[in-house]
Amino acid sequence: MRLDQILHRQVRVARVFGIPVRIDYRWFIVFALSTWLLAANFQRGFWEVRLDDSAAWVVGIVTTLLLFASVLGHELSHALAAQGEGIEIDEIVLHPFGGLARLRREPDSPRAEFRIAAAGPAASFIFALVAYGVMYLTDWGRSAAWAVCAIIAGGNLMLAVFNLLPGYPLDGGRVMRSYLWHRSGQLDQATRTVSQFGQWIAMTIIVFGVYMAYEYGAYFMALWSVLVGLFLWDAARAVWRAHTGRHARTVAEAMTAPVALEPDTLVSHFIDTVLPIHRQESFAVARQRRLHGILTLADLKKLPREHWHKTRVSEVMRPVDPRLFVAPSTPLVRAAELMKSNGAGALAVIDDAGELVGYLQSGRLKRKGGQ
Ligand SMILES: [Zn+2]
Repeated sequence: MRLDQILHRQVRVARVFGIPVRIDYRWFIVFALSTWLLAANFQRGFWEVRLDDSAAWVVGIVTTLLLFASVLGHELSHALAAQGEGIEIDEIVLHPFGGLARLRREPDSPRAEFRIAAAGPAASFIFALVAYGVMYLTDWGRSAAWAVCAIIAGGNLMLAVFNLLPGYPLDGGRVMRSYLWHRSGQLDQATRTVSQFGQWIAMTIIVFGVYMAYEYGAYFMALWSVLVGLFLWDAARAVWRAHTGRHARTVAEAMTAPVALEPDTLVSHFIDTVLPIHRQESFAVARQRRLHGILTLADLKKLPREHWHKTRVSEVMRPVDPRLFVAPSTPLVRAAELMKSNGAGALAVIDDAGELVGYLQSGRLKRKGGQ
């Protein structure tokens, strides 16, 4: 196994509110680096706080842990806000440049998007305020507790402000996207715009880092800026590519012709005559091109065999609901998310006239061109 593969490997460290929290091995490097820098600072003297060797290391470790807890708290409030909007959370990942709460799907509305995006920076502002408040309870400028709180307050303030930069996938970019989405109703276009902002902001951060190195010899800050900038560039570019050019595939390009069952079809008839010819995990149920629902084999398995000859397809199908169909112009990225989360693993495709025109099954997207 190559070194970079080892470093990107993730370990689960905790489960908070039922959400798994993972870190990758690069995190340990950053943890060590941060502890070392802080300890060195405390030994040399941070304001009037000067600690001996062992005390400096202990305070360095505690401060680093609190900084990472701050990042976790930030991500956790995104996650809880998302749960409040009815979105499941797959996991929270802590990486060297912060964290990421992985949501199972995109928010349904600009309002939900706004709430989820704003929750993180709001939490960081609150943590900063609390730490600032605690500073007043300590021996100002002289105690180790004061120094720790000062760093935590500063760290959280930076986390909040940095994340509010208006470039996707930063929180500020998501807030901006919710606004553009609200104004135009076009999620895809809003995503394109803010991921472009994300790339400009990434470039600015990189240029800033190089400038700091040349002008002030602040090499550590420069290196950090460049790394953060590259990371953000990569993330923003990936989103942008997924929504533009030849990568912006729509449902129409990937759907297959639907195999539709009449709602009145007997299950036994379906199993004897349709299933042997069409090896699919699910089928559209429609009459005269109007979608009635989706029948999945998984649902059908729950029906005892002796009921097959007296049960109609319409009695075991999933009745039509907005999560079971899309328009031909829906971006494929969005359709794939929907299929992952709607329980059917498939989508009917309905045109403007309300007629069934196609079918999508996860893992079976028709390939077009050589990608
Ligand atoms: Zn955030």
